Amino acid sequence: MNIHEFQARELLASAGVAVPRGAVARSPEEAESIARSLPCNSFVVKAQVHAGGRGKGTFKDGFKSGVHLVKTPAQVRDVAARMLGNQLVTHQTGPEGKPVHAVLVGESTEIARELYLAIALDRASSHPVLVASREGGVEIETVAEKNPAAILREQIHPGLGLQPFQARKASIFLGFPSTGLRAPCRLIHAVYRLFLERDCSQVEINPLAVTKGGDVVALDAKLNFDDNALFRHKEIEALRDASQEDPRDLAAAEHHLNYIGLDGDIGCMVNGAGLAMATMDLLQAAGGRPANFLDVGGGASEQMITAAFKLLQGDPRVRVIFINIFGGILKCDVLAQGIVAACRTAAPRVPVIVRLQGTNVEEGRKILRESGLKLTAAEGLTEAADKAVAAARGK
Ligand code: ADP
Ligand code: MG
Repeated sequence: MNIHEFQARELLASAGVAVPRGAVARSPEEAESIARSLPCNSFVVKAQVHAGGRGKGTFKDGFKSGVHLVKTPAQVRDVAARMLGNQLVTHQTGPEGKPVHAVLVGESTEIARELYLAIALDRASSHPVLVASREGGVEIETVAEKNPAAILREQIHPGLGLQPFQARKASIFLGFPSTGLRAPCRLIHAVYRLFLERDCSQVEINPLAVTKGGDVVALDAKLNFDDNALFRHKEIEALRDASQEDPRDLAAAEHHLNYIGLDGDIGCMVNGAGLAMATMDLLQAAGGRPANFLDVGGGASEQMITAAFKLLQGDPRVRVIFINIFGGILKCDVLAQGIVAACRTAAPRVPVIVRLQGTNVEEGRKILRESGLKLTAAEGLTEAADKAVAAARGK
């Protein structure tokens, strides 16, 4: 789960990380009054969306940049008025962008250096990893590509935790003098503690700024949380902003479906995460593009199958539905009943390719055959994928 920058700042501040003064506003007037209450003479106004790259983003109406530096509270109000209710498009949002319902109004910081600091999960080693770079303010992926030596990656032993020498090593790498390591080390430890205590999958501060006065402050913060740990962080779950999430993902979550929306046009319904991954690979290999990952799981009920089928049907990207089920715990006849029930409420608007194997396969096929629905049956996996790709191309 993602949260907004203004929420991430509060969590960082409560962990002991310095952030510039500021507050969130949901109207231009509120933005102006926050600016008037800040003891400074230049301000930053930042669009709050669940995406990075806001500074270089562009709003749907052509207004440039989701991060503005301005001089007066009246200008804060004007910039907020342009942002609120608008859609911000960045390289992370997709072409439709994300809606802006809030802006962060803060004091503008006099920046001497922009650094990068993150704690993430390294899946290869199954360890948290501390990532640091002196080249902050730009995408870390770009730094990794152009100048990989500028990035320090320090593995953290999950049992021992972040060691003091590791925080010192990172601080020195970030260019702090050996006589001034205390503040950055304290900050790095605070960030690691936050990562652990809140079950984050990532804490990214980019940029971490060194101010002209020599302070170290987090100017931007991106926090991601492990969905599987949210049950023990109700305070984090309460920060969810559904307006920033893919409506397809929200509908899937409502029915407890393991679903991830993608960009292609072949809607997939599969049981088992492994088979679902393999199905997407096969579609790619056959020249097609999946519109989603969907694992209906082993214990799916008829209602869940119906909900899953409706979800695929309702996705305007989908040009063909590909059902690939290996009946084990989920029996083929239960699946067939679910599909028939879904089609009774709304006839399929796209071709449906079905590959069934396993438990109760004959009963399942019979239900589909006798339903009168126009379905294309397939037996082999490759054959099924080829049929789905051909159907997506309108053949
Ligand atoms: P994003 O990463 O989404 O583009 P950031 O918050 O990192 O958004 O802002 C982009 C850039 O704007 C930063 O790299 C920094 O140079 C500048 N910036 C952000 N916040 C402030 C601030 N409070 N004061 C001065 N400059 C800022
Ligand atoms: Mg940033």
